[in-house]
Amino acid sequence: MSKNLTTRSEDYSKWYNELVVKADLAENSGVRGCMVIKPYGYAIWEKMQGELDRMFKETGHQNAYFPLFVPKSMFEAEETNAEGFAKECAIVTHYRLKTDEGRPGKLMVDPNAKLEEELIVRPTSEAIIWSTYKGWVQSYRDLPLLINQWANVVRWEMRTRLFLRTAEFLWQEGHTAHATRQEAIEESEKMMNVYADFVQNFMAIPVVKGLKTETERFAGADETYCIEALMQDGKALQAGTSHFLGQNFAKAFDVKFANAEGKQEHVWGTSWGVSTRLMGALVMTHSDDNGLVLPPNLAPIQVVIVPIYKSDEELEKITSVVNDLMAQFKKLNISVKFDSRTTQKPGFKFAEWELKGVPVRIAVGPKDLENGTFEVARRDTLSKEVVSNDGIVNYINDLLEIIQNDLFQKALDYRQNHITEVNSFEEFKEVLENKGGFISAHWDGTPETEEKIKDLTKATIRCIPLDRVEEQGKCIFTGLESAGRVLFAKAY
Ligand code: AMP
Repeated sequence: MSKNLTTRSEDYSKWYNELVVKADLAENSGVRGCMVIKPYGYAIWEKMQGELDRMFKETGHQNAYFPLFVPKSMFEAEETNAEGFAKECAIVTHYRLKTDEGRPGKLMVDPNAKLEEELIVRPTSEAIIWSTYKGWVQSYRDLPLLINQWANVVRWEMRTRLFLRTAEFLWQEGHTAHATRQEAIEESEKMMNVYADFVQNFMAIPVVKGLKTETERFAGADETYCIEALMQDGKALQAGTSHFLGQNFAKAFDVKFANAEGKQEHVWGTSWGVSTRLMGALVMTHSDDNGLVLPPNLAPIQVVIVPIYKSDEELEKITSVVNDLMAQFKKLNISVKFDSRTTQKPGFKFAEWELKGVPVRIAVGPKDLENGTFEVARRDTLSKEVVSNDGIVNYINDLLEIIQNDLFQKALDYRQNHITEVNSFEEFKEVLENKGGFISAHWDGTPETEEKIKDLTKATIRCIPLDRVEEQGKCIFTGLESAGRVLFAKAY
């Protein structure tokens, strides 16, 4: 099959868009800013969901579901949150259409069906959930509440891009309520760590854990923890966020509990989310000019077997050997596909599975049958070797683990090579222009300086790394005192 992918060095952004479509992950829809996730892409998302869901449950959370619509007055209750999201809200004003007289077959909004109160399509669910929590919490015995929801949300984004930024996206949102400030802070940190574990161990993407600055913080949060990843073009991507909400939503929605002494107190909250943006991170971190490269832990098909044959008789012999092999793979929970299509040539199949990022390809032809061997090819390195029939299944099982680790290591090496310390604004601009990546620099801690640097360079503060060393220095922009370095980057 012809791939004709734009290469990364030609045009990284075009490469990404083409790859997402050609690898059958997703496509643009007839609805502005909204995408169709195709079966192959959805299968990867389901694998992500499965693992995250397991991790949430292991840390004590339960799933629930809340409405898509939030009445405007409810939405307004927590002012900072409402104002923060106001500019990207979709609003339902009417509940009925009627035929448009004089324009047969056309419909119009029925002016008699105006809602008494407008409904906001949730951009995030704190409002609806905290209004519900009011009824769920009376005493300290009702706490903590540890709830997660898998849902879609709508944010009317102006500049959209498949997976990375869409107007409607799929995500999970955790919403928890606690008796003490300390417990809520621990929960937000815990969930940031769950995200980091997942993204690093499962998606093979290294992340920096950090805190957002006031400017970049979630509207309505006292603190936003985040994990930041670096894409192959040197731009950063916010891969997940976990917010410490203080008592802001509890106060807005009057969620109180009686403590052990019988005194009324406001509840402390957190919320945390990752979205289908992670699919974009996956593509942008590992894939190459030949197509997708999937880490084995997330690949819907981990091993594909392609028969090389001339006659029906040869195919029959190969099929019998392959059936035996498949049974062994299944015992080890390795997902394997035998591509026995007679309508396509092996070369076409090779190219297709390469484009789709299947980690390991096994080819088997008459010579292999004679010699008791298989040809094993790795998608990540594009290397091939001939492997003996004996112990092939264990060999592949180990190989999948090696590929998973190698992908992480490769991405980590790239990331390490793209964190540059600078000590002047000149150097800052030079690195940003010629190298990209994270730039570690002193900042005076003010939103004004952050804003000015952003205006001049498009780089934002991605985070204040949690593991930064306290180091007195001078802000690269104003020369004022700084207590430590922060990470800047251009970001998606
Ligand atoms: P937030 O509620 O703003 O903290 O976002 C929660 C998660 O959703 C973060 O991981 C964001 O990176 C991600 N996210 C935010 N906006 C979008 C969008 N328009 N499309 C896809 N993912 C998004």
